[in-house]
Amino acid sequence: MPRPLEALIHLDSLRHNLQRARECAPDARVWSVVKANAYGHGLRRVYEALRSTDGFALLDIAEAQRLREMDWRGPILLLEGVFEARDLEWCSRLNLWHVVHRNEQIDWIAQHKTEWPHRVFLKMNTGMNRLGFRPEAFRSAWARLSALSQVDEVSLITHFSDADSPRGIAHQVAAFHEFTADLSGERSLCNSAATLRHAHDPLVRGDWIRPGVMLYGASPDYPEHDAGHWGLQAAMTLRSRLIATQNLRAGDTVGYGSRFTAPRDMRIGVVACGYADGYPRHAPDGTPVLVNGIKVPIVGRVSMDMLEVDLSLVPDADIGSEVTLWGKGPTVAGHPTRLPIDEVALHCGTIGYELMCALSPRVAIEVMESASA
Ligand SMILES: *Cc1c(COP(=O)(O)O)cnc(C)c1O
Repeated sequence: MPRPLEALIHLDSLRHNLQRARECAPDARVWSVVKANAYGHGLRRVYEALRSTDGFALLDIAEAQRLREMDWRGPILLLEGVFEARDLEWCSRLNLWHVVHRNEQIDWIAQHKTEWPHRVFLKMNTGMNRLGFRPEAFRSAWARLSALSQVDEVSLITHFSDADSPRGIAHQVAAFHEFTADLSGERSLCNSAATLRHAHDPLVRGDWIRPGVMLYGASPDYPEHDAGHWGLQAAMTLRSRLIATQNLRAGDTVGYGSRFTAPRDMRIGVVACGYADGYPRHAPDGTPVLVNGIKVPIVGRVSMDMLEVDLSLVPDADIGSEVTLWGKGPTVAGHPTRLPIDEVALHCGTIGYELMCALSPRVAIEVMESASA
């Protein structure tokens, strides 16, 4: 029997979440963001579920090439653009659209020999201060690009820093519109948080939205809103089983560094899942886990291959009992159980994004066609 840890990828959740993105921005097209191997879910696995998208957005030419090999003929956008001049040959060969965020990339395009002009997304830095031309420099970059015979259509793109938080996006939207008002070209502004929170405004919605994490069923603005609030369904379940139990006496300690001391006699379970599987090592005591669908706390440090949980609330749990680290749990008394990845992440001082992306290659993966795990 293989080690009883596996990740389930729920294809119908992916389909449902893509539909949710479309509902938020009905007349916009969708770049399904599949960078980082589809946020840890596997590019090939999510492809089947997401192929009704309008385009795929990612970072690596190698990932774009894999999509083409899967027979994806639609648009693919390189979100960071090309990293060197030679990459443009791949863009020509694979018909990739690419972001242009600095002058050198324009120089490379100007020297590039291509039969088919490229579709580019010119990026404005409206305050994120990561990639893009500042608003005052945008127009001249746009004019330079538009004049090149190597360039077909110039679209306009920016990225929000605070779509999920109180500062909001108004200042960035204002800068974007002020400096693009009389420029032609399609617009793309919204990541998941902006799609869910702000895309009802047509000026924000633009022509293309770029949902990432929402497709995978995590909430971009947890804990303000959870995935259920946004009507999203977990696309990944990480589940395992108890492989041992221990009866502790008051004063006994658990695991490396004896971080947890039993306050009373108690029974604990040992779960086959550790940090080498991608579970965060810094999960503190109290981080939730489901055992037989019932929420119980982690006790003691997460080790490489195992972690321990307090079984006080599930006295009938035993070796072999089902453990849900995140995602969809078993149905208990007719009710499906779940443990949002965002809830686990919050305990660990991080976000659902990081946990799903960190799933380790050693975890067996099973693709589920239907909702039930
Ligand atoms: C990753 C990324 C997205 C998707 O972000 P989410 O928060 O996962 O929706 C959108 N746009 C750009 C430029 C990105 O890099």
